[in-house]
Amino acid sequence: MGLFDFLTTDIGIDLGTANTLIVYNDEVMVNQPSIVAVDRMSGKVIAIGEEAQQMHEKTHEKYKTIRPLRDGVIADFTVAEAMIQGMIKLIPRKRWLFNNSYRMVICIPSGITEVERRAVMDSAEHSHGKEVHLVDEPMAAAIGIGLDVKAPTGHMVVDIGGGTTEIAVIALSGIVTDQSIRIAGDEFNDDILDYMRKQHNMLIGERSAERIKIEVGAAIPDLEFPPEEIEIRGKDLMSGIPKTIKISHTEVAEALNKSITKIEDAVLKALESTPPELSADIYEQGIHITGGGALLRGLDVRLHAKTQLPIHVAEDPLKAVVRGTAIVLKNLDEFRYLTT
Ligand code: ADP
Ligand code: MG
Repeated sequence: MGLFDFLTTDIGIDLGTANTLIVYNDEVMVNQPSIVAVDRMSGKVIAIGEEAQQMHEKTHEKYKTIRPLRDGVIADFTVAEAMIQGMIKLIPRKRWLFNNSYRMVICIPSGITEVERRAVMDSAEHSHGKEVHLVDEPMAAAIGIGLDVKAPTGHMVVDIGGGTTEIAVIALSGIVTDQSIRIAGDEFNDDILDYMRKQHNMLIGERSAERIKIEVGAAIPDLEFPPEEIEIRGKDLMSGIPKTIKISHTEVAEALNKSITKIEDAVLKALESTPPELSADIYEQGIHITGGGALLRGLDVRLHAKTQLPIHVAEDPLKAVVRGTAIVLKNLDEFRYLTT
């Protein structure tokens, strides 16, 4: 214990491809899209999170928006660093007026390279991170939903985020098998854009695709509680004239079918490469799904039909990872071997 340790603040960060969350004192203090707006001329960051999101898609000659982690990799280190620093600054500060350094647990997509890990570490250290620990996302997700990761029992976690879907089998505090595919929320949006173009000769924006996915998104056409169809505005592909159409969950299920099949295949592959003793555990315990994609209607039903295993959708799946970082923070000695 150093003399000034009381000045150190513990924070947990989920650095996601779509959303960055920061937990402090067991409370989620920051929950923002992982996006920044930069000035085209100077390259300076002018907005982050929600504020940058508002600027997104409205192409502008003065600035552009960047999602530094888009495909589960760091597209631009400088921008990523500015984003991490900016997000930390968003924590309401009056609570620790005198504090000047942080002990951090940061969760990163497990697909990122060693160089990228180092870059995140450096960025965190540049952001007054006195002690920085990195944890793999599926491990944090597992801890966040309350699984006993230290037990010899095998658990499978499927985290469907923005850029990647991570499928991991965890036992005895380690990741036994890990698959990461670049099919997740962003790809679903692209599927919806494609579908609208092909089936309705209509151009829509990314935000409309996101709205469709959330409001009438589905993995199967036959839902027990189907959402009501919604109206979507876009542009006719031929004439360029604005038009409005109604869209229902059955259409979204069709649009997403191929991508979801790829996720199913990856899950099956992960099950295949799981050692037999752990397979038996998973057979009993089932599969846990986390991340924003877990909220897709009927995904559990579909995964169950494919695998015949019990499927558990995490409660509040968008916060599973950040909750995990908070638990690791509070029990750093116990979990130290998980961190790098
Ligand atoms: P990441 O960890 O990569 O930042 P998240 O776990 O935060 O990703 O999930 C974000 C993704 O989840 C986005 O692609 C978002 O569109 C999607 N998402 C959020 N809510 C829903 C919903 N209700 N139905 C389907 N997808 C959703
Ligand atoms: Mg995530």
